[in-house]
Amino acid sequence: MKKISIAIDGPASSGKSTVAKLLAKDYGYIYIDTGAMYRALTYIALKKKVDINNETALDNLLKKLSITFKQEENGQRIFVNKKEVTNDIRLPNVTNNVSTLSVHKKVRATMVKLQKNYGKHDGLIMDGRDIGTVVLPNAQVKIFLVASVLERAKRRFKENQKKGILTDFDTLKEEIKQRDFLDSTRKVSPLMQAKDASLLDTTGLNIAEAVERIKKIVNEKINN
Ligand code: C5P
Repeated sequence: MKKISIAIDGPASSGKSTVAKLLAKDYGYIYIDTGAMYRALTYIALKKKVDINNETALDNLLKKLSITFKQEENGQRIFVNKKEVTNDIRLPNVTNNVSTLSVHKKVRATMVKLQKNYGKHDGLIMDGRDIGTVVLPNAQVKIFLVASVLERAKRRFKENQKKGILTDFDTLKEEIKQRDFLDSTRKVSPLMQAKDASLLDTTGLNIAEAVERIKKIVNEKINN
């Protein structure tokens, strides 16, 4: 199969990274989790006490960081200036601040530049919020993945439980709604379905079913 670029966008906990990782493994593609990049900057900003509302300070900080990924059998590891932050960037404090930081125009411009560089590879799956609309507008396949808030909160709850992070279910649901709201109403490249993206609702689908649906979309696009 000819190597292509696949863009997967969608709201928080819609299953983007889970399906993207599996597809990348299956196709032998590179996977880039752009949410992890925004999370990495948030983690470092909080650690260094850089104000997450200070656009210029955040952009200056980002420009000094080297964010790298290492693909492994069981997933992907992420490093900032060679120090591993894979688990740190999933902490609730990062999750609850990342959408405030990611509204900033300058920060997004720098992130998009870094992400477009990855886009030069053949055989790439990238997930996020603005991949099909801004980062990879020419991706051959674009998927917009959605699921109900209830289903997404259940998934996140289980994920957190596995990691030993205790969270109240209703709080989690509210946090997801809040992140959806911030991500889809921000002025710069808000979360939205690209005109040429295929919509896939994963409510009630298991992971294998969601992956199969996407593969079907990929095959249809390639054969057309
Ligand atoms: O995908 P994930 O939930 O890890 O993303 C964390 C946050 O990073 C999102 O809620 C959003 O605020 C931001 N993000 C973004 N643009 C992307 C990817 C993530 O604004 N391409």
